[in-house]
Amino acid sequence: MKFFITGGAGFIGSHLAEHLIADGHEVWILDDLSTGSITNLDAVLEHPKFHYRIGSVTDEELVSALVDRADVVYHLAAAVGVKLIVERPTHTIETNVRGSEVVLQAAAKKGKLTFIASTSEVYGKGVKLPFSEDDDLLFGATTKSRWAYACSKAIDEYLALAYYRERETPVVITRFFNTVGPRQTGRYGMVLPNFVRQGLAGEDITVYGTGEQRRCFGYMGEVVECLVKLAHAPRAIGRVFNVGNDQEISINELAELVRQKTGSRSQIRHIDYEEAYPDGFEDMDRRIPNLSRLEDTIGYRPTMRVDDIVDRVVEYHTENAS
Ligand code: UDP
Repeated sequence: MKFFITGGAGFIGSHLAEHLIADGHEVWILDDLSTGSITNLDAVLEHPKFHYRIGSVTDEELVSALVDRADVVYHLAAAVGVKLIVERPTHTIETNVRGSEVVLQAAAKKGKLTFIASTSEVYGKGVKLPFSEDDDLLFGATTKSRWAYACSKAIDEYLALAYYRERETPVVITRFFNTVGPRQTGRYGMVLPNFVRQGLAGEDITVYGTGEQRRCFGYMGEVVECLVKLAHAPRAIGRVFNVGNDQEISINELAELVRQKTGSRSQIRHIDYEEAYPDGFEDMDRRIPNLSRLEDTIGYRPTMRVDDIVDRVVEYHTENAS
């Protein structure tokens, strides 16, 4: 089969590309290299079935030509990372909304199966746990720019579902819950790569707020497996899926785990949110996915424990320390 991945040089996109190439498929990727990197694609770059274009997902002509070649489109290109989002809200909204518009318009012309990457951020400040796909969404004030990301992704979801209803475009929406793994950079604020880098460097491990906030970390390899399986599940079309892991851990516990696993003498230091983020930040306490829809549709249950995930990430950063 032929696959087109937007954001294919990014963390999830590059792993997905590798997986599809290993399965014998033909893969095209498009990336503007804003947060992704060509080195993420080292393993496939020379492969005859792998092709890449450097460019923007808002380039209609380019996107349309690439969509036309593919059987399945994974639209993963987006502005991501809390730090980036709070610092560059205009870029976030425009990239995320316009990018999905361009991809969906092109996909609709020929009815191409299209995945729209969304995020657990869309649940916002929801308190009814675990989060299920049909739950109400609860965003904070528009003056807090963090929510611009959640809203831009919610618009992407509405748009994809609108194309499905009005034009019968086959779409699948995936809400990723804190995906982590090798190759993820801490540059845009993600907690695990930051902690691991700090631990290995013997620097303070910086926990924001009380550290009692909790998250569920989905392992990249399992997320990629879900994306591949969903592409072969007709029942997935026109639906929204939580994708990730439902094992919860507090950020304090994560910091301690990283400290142990890196054999580090690092201190764990708590930092106020005001110091850690510019204005416009607001954190959420807990976020657990209800994974039953995913399990019913593709028979998937996460098996990676957070302990093993941290091992893999530490191993990666140890081997790739610059
Ligand atoms: N966090 C932290 N130290 C860091 C980066 C993040 O304590 O160096 C916290 C952050 O405030 C949040 C959690 O870790 O409560 C997860 O942050 P991340 O940005 O990875 O993902 P989020 O769940 O916020 O989208």
